[in-house]
Formats: sequence, structure tokens, C-alpha cells
Amino acid sequence: MKALVLNDLHKFSLGEVEKPQIAHPGDAIIRMTLTTICGSDLHLIHGHIPSTPGYVLGHEFVGVVEAVGSDVKDFKPGDRVTGPAAPYCGQCENCQAGHVAHCTRGGILGSGIEAGDLSGTQSEYIRIPYADVNLVPIPDDLTDEQVLFVGDILSTGYTAVINAELRAGDSLVVYGAGPVGLCAVVAAKLFSPGQIILVDLDPFRLEMGRKLGATHIIRADQEDVLNVIGQLTNNKGADAAIEAVGLPSTFQQAVRCVGIGGRVSVVGIFAENVEVPFPEIFLKNLKIEMGLGDLRHMKRLIRMIETGQIDLTPLITHRMKLNDIQRGYEIFENRTEPVIKIAVTP
Ligand SMILES: [Zn+2]
Ligand SMILES: [Zn+2]
Repeated sequence: MKALVLNDLHKFSLGEVEKPQIAHPGDAIIRMTLTTICGSDLHLIHGHIPSTPGYVLGHEFVGVVEAVGSDVKDFKPGDRVTGPAAPYCGQCENCQAGHVAHCTRGGILGSGIEAGDLSGTQSEYIRIPYADVNLVPIPDDLTDEQVLFVGDILSTGYTAVINAELRAGDSLVVYGAGPVGLCAVVAAKLFSPGQIILVDLDPFRLEMGRKLGATHIIRADQEDVLNVIGQLTNNKGADAAIEAVGLPSTFQQAVRCVGIGGRVSVVGIFAENVEVPFPEIFLKNLKIEMGLGDLRHMKRLIRMIETGQIDLTPLITHRMKLNDIQRGYEIFENRTEPVIKIAVTP
């Protein structure tokens, strides 16, 4: 089958690989109908997330069940499904404690042997382990594009908002208008905050954030961000902040921009250590939550897509074939044209 393979650090190409087979009785083989490119793919390609090259990239998928192992009870060939970027067993100690991103038997699709050796979704077929635990059926009235982001960036954005303990009327600052930050804006709206203040450098992404529900946008390269947030919150500071960038400066600003008792929720992926403004965190009685997104909300999120409370289709700025995916990477990484997410069909 056709697949995008990471051959070496910084090097990837479309090639022929073996089609995945049922390896365990709980497995399902999925024929891909839609996938996409994620910022994490770039981190893997460039070694910011360490991995041993020689595997198929991609971890977001929508598809049709092609075959199931003998233990799979809830799915049959022909079912339309999606699933989490990081499949988990549901049984191990970490899963039972609710930390499914740290499943000792699971892994992350398309992230190499270090992450469970699960082949990626930028291909024609994938194998999903523990299919009954991980696969989520797609209601007939929803399109592939409507549910494409549920298993990764939407789950992460929703986790960010839950961790921010957002309440009706709150003022929320979101640092980062990339795909995860924009998903956080959409998820935040579900909790009826008074203000969603979105901060980024990219005017196209900020405008997208406004369309998706941000009440205020701040261009960090042109405005004094903390000053503007101060004005918008009557100098009280925000009630909560979400960091969806992964840089020391945005983390420090997220701490600074919230008021007494504020919550700071971090979902950005950090490649370096951060100097933490400890006295300020202590003296303002702040609460800081962080960590990998919780992938157990998928069914709830799909219900909200069905009821019209969530629509992420505006994030899809490009559509292309798997054959053209290398051009897609070029656009996605270098932003040679305004881009947020690229939907890829086999
Ligand atoms: Zn991702
Ligand atoms: Zn587990």
C-alpha cells in the first residue's frame, strides 16, 4: 500500500509498504478515508520528539473497518469509524487511573518504535489495537471532515478548557491560534465564558479564531499583550489562561495575565526548560494544570458535533490527495500560503 514514510531525520517520502494485518485478536484494520498533517509530525521529522526513523507518519484518521480480530465485538467490516491518536488498552494501571495517554500497552500512531510501534495514518490502511476500546462509530449524518479532528486536536483543546476549570462569564486568554489553540476557542465557547481573548502573531489565524468564537484578538507583535488584557479585564487579570504554544515566554505571560486565583492550563508541547515565576504563582494563589490531552471524550465531542455545538470544518484550508502530501507538508511547515489544517484523502 501507499504510505508516507519517515526515512531519516528531516527526510520523508511516499512509498510502498506492507499493508497492516490483524496481529492480535483485539485488532481492527481500517481503510483510511481521511487523514491530516499535525504539528507533531513536524516535531518527529525534525527530531524534536525523538524517534527511530523507518515508520509511516500520521495519527489522525477517519475510515471504514476493513477487518476485525476474533475478540472484537462492537465493530464489523463496513462500519465508519474514527479513533484516538494514541490508542490505549483501557485495562492497565494507568488506564484504570484515567491516564490513558500513559497506557503501558498502547502508543501513538505513526510515532515510531519509541511510542508503541504503531504504523501511521498517512497511508491507505492502519491497524488499531484494542479496537473495542478505541474505535468510535461515526453517525451517518456526519461527514468525514466534520469528525476528522476529534481524536487529536479537538480532544486536546477540550482537555485544555476542562483543565482551565472554565465557568460561565469567565474571561479566558488563549495563547496560540494554531490548530490546538483554535480548538480550545471552540471548546471554550461550550462553557459560555464572557470573554475569549486570543493571542498570536499570525493575522490569518487570529481572524479564524474570531470566526470560531474569540471575542477579542491580540497581535502579539504589534500590541502590548498584557496591557490589552489588563484593559479588557478592568485590571483584574483574566480568570483563566490556556497555553497552546509551548514557549517559555508564552507560559510566563499566561501566568502573568491571570488574576488572583487564576487557572493556567498548559497544552503546548515544550522542547526546553522554562523559568517558572514561582513567587507570582504562589502569591496569586494560581492553579496550574498541564499534560497530554485526555482522549476519553471522543463520543461526547461527536455528539456535540452532531447537535451543531461544535464545527471545526472551517479549520480545513486545504484538501489534497495522499499522492500530493509532500507538497502539503511544504505548505503546512513553511506557511507559504495561509494554512491551518490540510485534509488528505488516499
Ligand atoms: Zn497531532
Ligand atoms: Zn492501558
